[in-house]
Amino acid sequence: GEGRPWEVKKVQTTCPFCGTGCNFDLNVKDGKVIGVTSNPNAPVNGKALCVKGRFGMDMINNPNRLTTPLIRKDGVLVPAEWDEALDLVAAKFREIKENYGANALAALSSAHCTNEENYLLQKFMRGVIGTNNIDHCARVCHAPTVAGLAVSFGSGASTNSFEEIPNAKVMFVIGANPTEAHPVVGTKMKQALAKGAKLIVADPRQIELAESSHLWLRLRPGTDVALINGIMNIILANGWEDPSFIEARTEGFDKFGENLENYPPEKVSQITGVPVEQLEEAARIYATAERAMIFYTLGITEHTTGTDNVMSLANLAMLTGNVGKECSGVNPLRGQNNVQGSCDMGALPGDYPGYQKVVNPEVRKKFEEAWGVSLDPNIGLMLPDMFKAAINRDLRAMYIMGEDPVITDADANHVRKGLESLDFLVVQDIFMSETAKLADVVLPGASFAEKTGTFTNAERRVQMVNQAIKPIGNARTDGEIIIELANRMGYPSSYESSEEVMQEIASLTPLYGGISHQRLGTQGLQWPVPSLDHPGSKVLHQETFSRGKGLFMPIEYQAANELPDEEYPFVLNTGRKLSHYNVFTQNSEALESYSPEELAEINPLDAQQLDVKEGERVKVVSRRGELETKIRITERVPQGMIFMTFHYMETPTNVLTNGAADKVSKTYEYKACGVRITKTA
Ligand code: SF4
Repeated sequence: GEGRPWEVKKVQTTCPFCGTGCNFDLNVKDGKVIGVTSNPNAPVNGKALCVKGRFGMDMINNPNRLTTPLIRKDGVLVPAEWDEALDLVAAKFREIKENYGANALAALSSAHCTNEENYLLQKFMRGVIGTNNIDHCARVCHAPTVAGLAVSFGSGASTNSFEEIPNAKVMFVIGANPTEAHPVVGTKMKQALAKGAKLIVADPRQIELAESSHLWLRLRPGTDVALINGIMNIILANGWEDPSFIEARTEGFDKFGENLENYPPEKVSQITGVPVEQLEEAARIYATAERAMIFYTLGITEHTTGTDNVMSLANLAMLTGNVGKECSGVNPLRGQNNVQGSCDMGALPGDYPGYQKVVNPEVRKKFEEAWGVSLDPNIGLMLPDMFKAAINRDLRAMYIMGEDPVITDADANHVRKGLESLDFLVVQDIFMSETAKLADVVLPGASFAEKTGTFTNAERRVQMVNQAIKPIGNARTDGEIIIELANRMGYPSSYESSEEVMQEIASLTPLYGGISHQRLGTQGLQWPVPSLDHPGSKVLHQETFSRGKGLFMPIEYQAANELPDEEYPFVLNTGRKLSHYNVFTQNSEALESYSPEELAEINPLDAQQLDVKEGERVKVVSRRGELETKIRITERVPQGMIFMTFHYMETPTNVLTNGAADKVSKTYEYKACGVRITKTA
């Protein structure tokens, strides 16, 4: 990080790690990123940055970056020229389409890439290939949010803004670990606490925030619906609901209320393991506050009941009139830097950009006219179904941009088998991921520091990503690669810049209608931004819900798909830790040095029974796979649970996890499956 200040160029841009969307300045000298400095004008974070944003950028210059295309020849990936690689990909895609139809191809888009690139990839798959088989990692994280909040409110996004958090009166954090996974959001929560806010945490693990909470509900994994129904039962019994809000703004209350009668506190306490007094206290704190904010992440969504869990939280907010005003609402903290944007851009099998439905003939006509093609009227494959289709040979080729499903998707051995069954696999990435190792062609994309475009954070803020350096080696921006492929497949396209792509997005996507790169400037805009003179939207659903009235849904509790039994007596729970981001930051030497290996957490009483000590290794076995890991002994996890992250290639936790999925959104149940643990010799 040396260099004289007058020789250093500073470029404001948006962090590529989590969905908080912090901004900072990349410091550039001699065409190289040499460090990161805070930018006091950063709209979300001001000068604050977490360890990942501050120190993780050394991954840009990592010598292991892919710098040239690779083609598999005689079983080995060997360097190739761009023309050869792109011609091969185009020819193979064309051949497979001719022989098996367009739906024999599928793509995974990337929550790491820009909105413009996500837009281009879904346009390529729909308009050039001719299939709606496009999805991305939202399927494995917040797809239940998109589905659930769309049913309840009409819009599947966070209702409120981060700047409101320090003024919150009550915060209910359920299935989220903000101080580690969204650290700058965690800091804002601590500011609210310092100003006297009350905090309720619901989590089976004693996360850091639980320690500063007023009430910690240690529920059993997968019992969220029962917990929330129980709390709502108590709210109604005490008359703490908001009758005028219910009357004026919602529908479906009667059936919903009847269903709650099945969740008296004692029964809920038995299901969840949370004492009745704590349920009552949670109901009182949340419902009697003037305003209360709900925050959640994957502890809510990554269950076979993920969509039900999300709708339950929407019910709770509506019951107490906690939507449509500042310091309230239902606030999913989106995981990846641009997972909100990938959804917004239609990297989803049933949605064009802006959640305009593939099955709606008028919408389809609009896109057909704009793109000059005819479009498939049928919804495409969701991510988990792609691997199944590959195994039974309905799917023949995949184009995977910036994702590593072999490491990130549940039941990883099944995923690997799916990818190995394909006739042709193209992986576009910046590192040789585990998935890229299986590819027939590897295309080197560019990191966020090497491109201009936009990311959309968890509070719907569309922000600029500004190019600081040229792509490394022969790498190219992901957008450029997609355009090259489109041209080779007989769909001539050219864009002057990613700004021109944003103009096309705005012209076709009402939520982004008033967005241009120029307007975004240094502060960004929060969608919906319907017109050029619209200032953006901090709080959703103020006068009416996106769907008109908010819809109460009666939700029944269902247990997790795999409960502990004699053979697999432990529950495996998965999540993140502060110094790493998904499967990406092992490429940062700095972050890797903070936390170089998996340390699975188990309770001291379990450790005693298993006869293992701190730092020793255990074998963990599920119905699907097994691995070895070092352990950490801590009371943060309850007895009968083992907690693991999924950050480490050497300890691929997802060989263990359950591929059972939410019935609506097909999001896997990462947060609970049965395992057995034995001491390794
Ligand atoms: Fe980046 Fe998230 Fe850390 Fe902010 S909180 S610096 S967006 S990883």
